[in-house]
Amino acid sequence: MERTLIILKPSALQRRLIGAIIQRFEQKGFIICGMKLMQLDERILDEHYSHLLEKPFYARIKKSMMASPVLVMCVSGVNAIPVVHSMAGVTNGRNAAPGTIRGDFSMSVQENVIHTSDSAKTAKEEISRFFAPEELFEYNIATLHYLYADDEVDLNQN
Ligand code: ADP
Repeated sequence: MERTLIILKPSALQRRLIGAIIQRFEQKGFIICGMKLMQLDERILDEHYSHLLEKPFYARIKKSMMASPVLVMCVSGVNAIPVVHSMAGVTNGRNAAPGTIRGDFSMSVQENVIHTSDSAKTAKEEISRFFAPEELFEYNIATLHYLYADDEVDLNQN
């Protein structure tokens, strides 16, 4: 099993979409390992979006990400990183495929409701950036046999 990070941005909270978005991940079969509201600040955003610091629109992104709390989630599943990333859709909501979260819920490149980790390296960094170890849970999933065949997953792990 693999863990990945999801951020539901202020655009999702303000538009009351978090229930609908969490439901997609729950229905798909992801196991929720951690979930909390967080008010982001400049320090954490400069780290999280370090690849965008020089962009002319970076100040605008930062303001948008600090406009209200965000919901951060850590979920696990087999190949969770690429599966969650593909469920989010491409950056610009107008170009995102119907059926993806951005494709269904966003008309914007900036106000695109969700962030998801895009590689094993960023997932590891992002999970430890947003969660303390004691905020992440491993627990028995009674329905795991109905989510995966035995040979797809080590059934003792999540
Ligand atoms: P992604 O979130 O799809 O991984 P990036 O890491 O490139 O995309 O950008 C991070 C976030 O910055 C995007 O999700 C979006 O909210 C915002 N952003 C990216 N490009 C632009 C842009 N040209 N104008 C405004 N906001 C942007």
